[in-house]
Amino acid sequence: MLKVAKFGGTSLADENQFKKVHDIVINNEERKFVVVSAPGKRFKEDNKITDLLYLTHAHVKYSVPYDPVLKIIEFRFNNIKKALNLSVDLDKEFKEIRYQLDNKCSEDYIVSRGEYLSALLLADYLKCDFIDAKDVIFFNYNGSVNKEKTRESIRQATANCKKAVIPGFYGTYPDDSIKTFSRGGSDISGAILASAVNADMYENWTDVSGFLIADPRIIKNPKQIKQITYQELRELSYMGASVLHDEAIFPVREAGIPINIKNTNEPENPGTIITGKDELDAGYINEYIITGISGKKNFSAFYVRKEHMANEVGILRKALEVFEERGISIDHIPSGIDSFSIVLPSESVDKVAHEIIEELKIKCKTDYVKVHNNLSLISTVGINMASKPGISAKLFTSLGANNINIRMIDQGSSEINIIVGVDNKDFENAIKAIYDAFVN
Ligand code: ASP
Repeated sequence: MLKVAKFGGTSLADENQFKKVHDIVINNEERKFVVVSAPGKRFKEDNKITDLLYLTHAHVKYSVPYDPVLKIIEFRFNNIKKALNLSVDLDKEFKEIRYQLDNKCSEDYIVSRGEYLSALLLADYLKCDFIDAKDVIFFNYNGSVNKEKTRESIRQATANCKKAVIPGFYGTYPDDSIKTFSRGGSDISGAILASAVNADMYENWTDVSGFLIADPRIIKNPKQIKQITYQELRELSYMGASVLHDEAIFPVREAGIPINIKNTNEPENPGTIITGKDELDAGYINEYIITGISGKKNFSAFYVRKEHMANEVGILRKALEVFEERGISIDHIPSGIDSFSIVLPSESVDKVAHEIIEELKIKCKTDYVKVHNNLSLISTVGINMASKPGISAKLFTSLGANNINIRMIDQGSSEINIIVGVDNKDFENAIKAIYDAFVN
């Protein structure tokens, strides 16, 4: 079994976390390639190294001395080095960073140094190879990854290697300058690597033991999701559950490699496995009919009503154009016979709701257009729910029994999710009711 293990920022936040990572990787031959983030927060009020690096660049940009911030970064890396007795020449590295900052280096270059130094230190600690991401991850000028060149370079660089550490988050443009992924992008680097080396498993190590069925801020000690499909995960994360970088899923999904979300602070916990098994099949091990519940507050619904709308061709398109012309993306369009609603996050129409109402009235030739705010959407997701009668009845009954009014219902045609809209004030209680109905 060949595994690529990616460790996030909290897993490498200080020397103690480095020790845990060391122990997880060192005697495990399966964990051959290790991708790292920059050190993250050690405690709640702490700063991520990456954020501090962005700050040094901003200082340069506004001609404010950057050294006080850079010193904090230097101090943190030096602490790790000293505590673990490592030999990486950090003085030389920081001399180069200062030189680059003094000579107008790009923001991408400077923020990539967090991952770079983190990987240098870990490779030294593990006494294994260091492969610089600049030599194996390649971007096109349009920002997409040059897949062919990247795959080929990774294969060559890893061919004769027993164990290696590779920094996440960055690669290079065709002119050799550094280019980073979007924030949290080390997940993507790990996934690209896993796919290129044909790994059997992509382990994503973080500070939680995988995904939980519901948000622990709402449900006390929610049960863990043992296994989830990519499709379900996408539904859940779109609706607010966040653990993994969205784009990170694609390279491994394409290659059919499962992802295992693991906890560096609790390595024995099996975590959550994300698989490509998008059908109900024997490998599916969750105990509950639903896989997860997630939701978001503060949606708005533009309600458009018109006599005999059902017979009118093109009215929906005209309404949608109002949003398209403003570049506003829409989430749901539940409809009735002579009415429909257009549902989207309130913040995207904050300042223009009244203008939109007027435009909808003109385009749809009706006086009856209203906007309802304070709507929460809750998505109940589960591949096991598909083609099983009685699931929605159970869900709605649970809300009814808790006196929660349902303002909107939407079920995707894949039948793996049911979305209900409730008042913001009922958001938490609705999630509790659904959780109780299906899990407790
Ligand atoms: N260090 C980068 C960030 O904070 C990338 C990562 O950790 O994935 O966004």
